Amino acid sequence: MEIWQKILQASLTRPADLVRRFGVDSRPLEEVAERYPMRVNPYYLGLIREVNDPIWRQAVPSVEELQDSVCPADPLEEENQSPIPNLVHRYPDRVLFLVCSECAMYCRFCTRKRKVGGEQMTITRQSIEAGLDYIRRHPQIRDVILSGGDPLLLADEKLDWILRELRAIPTVEIIRIGSRIPVVLPQRITPALVKVLRRYHPLYINTHFNHPDEITETSARACGRLVDAGIPLGNQTVLLRGVNDDPQVMKRLMQKLLAIRVRPYYIYQADMVQGTDHFRTSVEEGVEILRALRGHTSGMAVPAYVIDAPGGGGKIPLLPDYLQSLGTEVVLKNYLGDTYTYLNPERRQEDEERRRAANGHR
Ligand SMILES: *Cc1c(COP(=O)(O)O)cnc(C)c1O
Ligand code: SF4
Repeated sequence: MEIWQKILQASLTRPADLVRRFGVDSRPLEEVAERYPMRVNPYYLGLIREVNDPIWRQAVPSVEELQDSVCPADPLEEENQSPIPNLVHRYPDRVLFLVCSECAMYCRFCTRKRKVGGEQMTITRQSIEAGLDYIRRHPQIRDVILSGGDPLLLADEKLDWILRELRAIPTVEIIRIGSRIPVVLPQRITPALVKVLRRYHPLYINTHFNHPDEITETSARACGRLVDAGIPLGNQTVLLRGVNDDPQVMKRLMQKLLAIRVRPYYIYQADMVQGTDHFRTSVEEGVEILRALRGHTSGMAVPAYVIDAPGGGGKIPLLPDYLQSLGTEVVLKNYLGDTYTYLNPERRQEDEERRRAANGHR
């Protein structure tokens, strides 16, 4: 057995397992863990400094999960936009393809809380073949995002098979993997895994760091291995109350990500997912965080802040009010709040005509 498999196997899966180590009363949590699975592996557990800190809050069940009376189970209507089980086709040219139902840790704020790690998500060889088949029959799909659950929890051979089948589809230009493994179980990024992945370029991985304390020597090494294999790494952070809802924490996280060669891609406003209401912050707080980043630190450390629209509308970007007015004069506000004016050139007749003619030829 490999090291990462041993770590995974030693995961705490029952609230009672927490009592010895932290002395908390775990009884109220039993019901929570019945409803939503718990898995805290020893590596991630080791990052906890004290009860209820940002690492704890992401990993350990809370009674608040059962008190949520606001949020629906599937706010993004992924099930409605699934032409076949385990594949979400929301946008014209790309799909989300769920290939693994398990994760190396069950994050308490997960958007797919309704199904990860349970019976609601059955992924079989047949369901994966059906997904591959769907992608083959829809040549407009040029970007496939492997997700789950966590695709990097699959065995090397299984992943190799999926990637090989995808690469054999000529209309698939890029493959992306969404994975929290570099954060929660970095030991899984073995040389053998990297050897598999690097065969299928252009391959991108978006990982999911939420707090600077998650950037350790081990996770930095895992990310370095992937980047050294030519895999660009991006990061998708979820804005979470009591975890990273602080401009200084978020800035530090973005800066530390760049230092380990991970490029911030998105900050998500927390989805309205049943059992996660206690994690949601106001949108104003998100806008303030973005304002605290732009101009105040490297532009490369500034991701897009988005709300994944309830009802399946997709990701919608939110920006502080830099654009004050648009017209012959464009009035702008910079990161310090000072006002500047840019003179807009007049739209010329011939440009308009050229544009119209070009559109006509389509
Ligand atoms: C997020 C998401 C994508 C990818 O969106 P990008 O903005 O291209 O990263 C694709 N499909 C679904 C269903 C998604 O939720
Ligand atoms: S790793 Fe991702 S899919 Fe798995 S529980 Fe965490 S957020 Fe959800």
